[in-house]
Amino acid sequence: MRLLIPNLLALSCALAVQAQVHTEMIEYKHGDAVLEGYLAYDQSIKGPRPAVLIVHQDTPLFLAESCAYANLIGGCPGKANCRFESMEMVSSHGESVTALDYHCRTIVLNQTSFCLSDRLPELAKAGALSLRADFVYRPYEPAEVRDRWRLVRAGRNVPGGHSANFDRGIL
Ligand SMILES: [Zn+2]
Repeated sequence: MRLLIPNLLALSCALAVQAQVHTEMIEYKHGDAVLEGYLAYDQSIKGPRPAVLIVHQDTPLFLAESCAYANLIGGCPGKANCRFESMEMVSSHGESVTALDYHCRTIVLNQTSFCLSDRLPELAKAGALSLRADFVYRPYEPAEVRDRWRLVRAGRNVPGGHSANFDRGIL
């Protein structure tokens, strides 16, 4: 083990020297709103870069470091005693969202999933080789995962599936 650690350090140093990570802020619009995105890529890699494209996910709208339940009862009783699991809420824009507990943190999800499975041929033609269907955040029953996975594999969108910013060229 003593020999392995210096070797790993040497490898990580060698990789750090080779990587030429370019970063820049990208400005884009949503309606009239001007927004900023952050782009980072390794300039030492030429041509197509390896990537995994997510074709199904309950992408969090945001993560909060506080327990949503605490706002209802005047404080969270702590991780050991907190009984918050999930709740439906309406955003200030009138959209329904789901707040899920994650160890007294809160994950807020859209009501429907991001899904690009009806575009698999288009994505393959564009060069997408590695795809991922993600069922991490929402507490699906096993049969729901099976049914959704079958739809994704068949190139059909899950019920209510949306493409988020994909049609505007943003992933
Ligand atoms: Zn809590």
